[in-house]
Amino acid sequence: MASVAASPFSLRDFFKSFMLVELLKGMALTGRYAFSRKVTIQFPEEKTPLSPRFRGLHALRRYENGEERCIACKLCEAVCPAVAITIEAGQREDGSRRTTRYDIDLTKCIFCGFCEESCPVDSIVETHILEYHGEKRGDLYFTKDMLLAVGDRYETEIAAAKAADAKYR
Ligand code: SF4
Ligand code: SF4
Repeated sequence: MASVAASPFSLRDFFKSFMLVELLKGMALTGRYAFSRKVTIQFPEEKTPLSPRFRGLHALRRYENGEERCIACKLCEAVCPAVAITIEAGQREDGSRRTTRYDIDLTKCIFCGFCEESCPVDSIVETHILEYHGEKRGDLYFTKDMLLAVGDRYETEIAAAKAADAKYR
């Protein structure tokens, strides 16, 4: 036979409900925040500060002489937990080893930063750029040329962020 659990009767709850205590508490909280310092900002006109370790859009960096830093060691590809990086490598005419393909699928990436941490030559980095989007999946598939272009464009900011963080590493 099915039994129906009796609901516990509480006089205290009844009076609290009758006197609209929860509503008044809510209104008091709203009133308190209405006159306190505002923490919301008008994005995108206003922006909050970003840590030098912020992990945004990826970039491939070059040395000052224009030579790409990446030595195609594939550590970043090996460490990537999302299997988002695809690298193919070859030997150049000067005998150095370089990537012939370096792609990151940002639809797979979880922005963990492992690729940046693993890179022995500070080549692959995650920049402060967060305002980007893709309208179809292919838009978020970044090739080597695209990643180098991001690095070229934002090298000053990337170097400054690296320098600001260097003493904590
Ligand atoms: S940030 Fe993490 S998930 Fe994204 S490409 Fe780098 S290692 Fe892979
Ligand atoms: S980006 Fe860095 S870790 Fe990745 S293949 Fe190039 S040198 Fe190696």
